[in-house]
Amino acid sequence: MEQFYKGIPASGRIAIGTAIVLKRSNLFIPKYNIKRNGDSIEKELKKLETALGQTKRQFDSLRNDLKEDTGAFETGYIDAAILMLEDPLLKERVTTELKKSYLNIEWIFNDVVDELADQLMKSGDYYFRERAPDVLSIGQKVLTNLMGNEDEITPVLHTDSIIVAHTLSPHELIQYYKMHVKAVVTEIGGKTSHVSIMARDLEIPAVIGVPEITKIIQTGDRLIVDGTIGNVICHPENDTITLYEYKKKESEKYENQLKKIDKKTCCLKEGIEVLLLANLDVEEELAFIEHSHSQGIGLFRTEYIFLNRKESPSEDEQFIIYKRIIEALDPYEVTIRIIDIGGDKKPPYMSYIEEKNPFLGWRGIRFALSNRMLLKQQVRAILRASNFGNARIMFPMVNDIDEILEVKAVLEECKDELSKEKIDFNHEISMGIMVETPSSIILLDRISEYVDFVSVGTNDLIQYTLAIDRGNGKVSSNFEPTHPAMLRILKYIIEISAEKKMEVSICGEMAGEPLYTLLLIGLGYRKLSMSPTRIPLVKSILINSSLSESQDITKRALELVSKKDVIRYIREQMINRFKTLEDYFRQNV
Ligand code: PEP
Ligand code: MG
Repeated sequence: MEQFYKGIPASGRIAIGTAIVLKRSNLFIPKYNIKRNGDSIEKELKKLETALGQTKRQFDSLRNDLKEDTGAFETGYIDAAILMLEDPLLKERVTTELKKSYLNIEWIFNDVVDELADQLMKSGDYYFRERAPDVLSIGQKVLTNLMGNEDEITPVLHTDSIIVAHTLSPHELIQYYKMHVKAVVTEIGGKTSHVSIMARDLEIPAVIGVPEITKIIQTGDRLIVDGTIGNVICHPENDTITLYEYKKKESEKYENQLKKIDKKTCCLKEGIEVLLLANLDVEEELAFIEHSHSQGIGLFRTEYIFLNRKESPSEDEQFIIYKRIIEALDPYEVTIRIIDIGGDKKPPYMSYIEEKNPFLGWRGIRFALSNRMLLKQQVRAILRASNFGNARIMFPMVNDIDEILEVKAVLEECKDELSKEKIDFNHEISMGIMVETPSSIILLDRISEYVDFVSVGTNDLIQYTLAIDRGNGKVSSNFEPTHPAMLRILKYIIEISAEKKMEVSICGEMAGEPLYTLLLIGLGYRKLSMSPTRIPLVKSILINSSLSESQDITKRALELVSKKDVIRYIREQMINRFKTLEDYFRQNV
């Protein structure tokens, strides 16, 4: 009988094929006592050392493969994997456990990795949570080497094979890609875990986070995977197959149309231009941004340069990264955001105090201002890179004008130093802030006197306005960008910006969600920065819509007082206009 399962839509497109279930999460790990003496501890540690070395060599050769074969793909995952394999803390934890329990190394190592992944999963920060599957898959690679059964891993794929696994590493995904895998389904993972990013880059349909799916589906089962809305259908009936074949054809036709859209400008029916820019988290995404036809980078989250490392990157290291990105995008602008760490995004080499409410704590600009050396290094690196293209500098989590004055003083100090050192930079570099706290909005008319531009960070703005933790799944259904209070705030921001002739854009996730596109246009926003994968779809909506219909939608939405009514109304309006996206609009938000 036809069975239906729901997961997270990680990579769009539909695939129909036959399941190959990887049972590796159920890898049998032996458990036995070892002799209670130093020699046996040494022997177990030596086994681990050999397996870690072997795994590292496998990752090194994968990195070479990647460079030769694909060039553009993520090597960031491999760097992180090697860092984990070489981490002295990992070995320290294993050794401590060994000395405590005198159990075999396979059992201890598996326990330590599980514990590590568990800690990441429990983190309030989505970046850390989404690294948990990576840690598990790297751990599994070491374990298979430790148990000497590496060879049995890669199954033979047929032309219509769909991989169903507990989790996959990007490494494995590339192997399956080369074997023409049709789709992948996994039990764990998040939309921004490396394997999801890569599935999108390789255009492999993927549904992730389907609980227990490797226990439910059998190898050989017929499957439909709908990566656009996160559906997996097992044993589909003939009618369902016919329906999905039709949907698949339609969506392929639609994608081909999207690809044909004029690459450069994006205009509404009346000819009014809307700028679509990309958000960049890690440098490896650059190639993808270049293909998305974005008109610049509206938000470069630099904190990821500081995480996943043993020590803070130097000014020179940062300069090289910023310069590469600025040159790649030239003449388009690249807005580089000063590190937004602290709170839950804590690089291991920095010291912190324990905080009860990290999201209301030492993060963003507060953190940067109390780490002057670090801030100055970053500002200097950005200024130096500004000489090579169109760079702008942006500060996160600003609450008041005092903070702006302080960072402006740092900016001037860095400019003076560079001038004295006779280093070229753009003396007129634009300086802006994220507006993502209610206080920055209440003060916006006065803030406009001090900055060149503002960018609305809806992710934090919703969190702080509605008092809803953005990382807490229990309350996520209340995290509603179209909450009537949010609509009024977004309207107020646009009105003040127009009155003060200050540039405004949106770079929170709301900007890249097609359901809200016309609402934002109706409110008056003309510059949206989003995940590059969303640009073609948002663009297709915009070029097929007019300003007047967007304004009609927004006007009505602003009149409604119930948040449920607002979202129901927006969904209905968008479905009426874009029938082919009906499923997407119904299920994706
Ligand atoms: C935001 O808060 O909307 C934003 C874009 O910044 P981040 O998601 O990095 O906090
Ligand atoms: Mg933010």
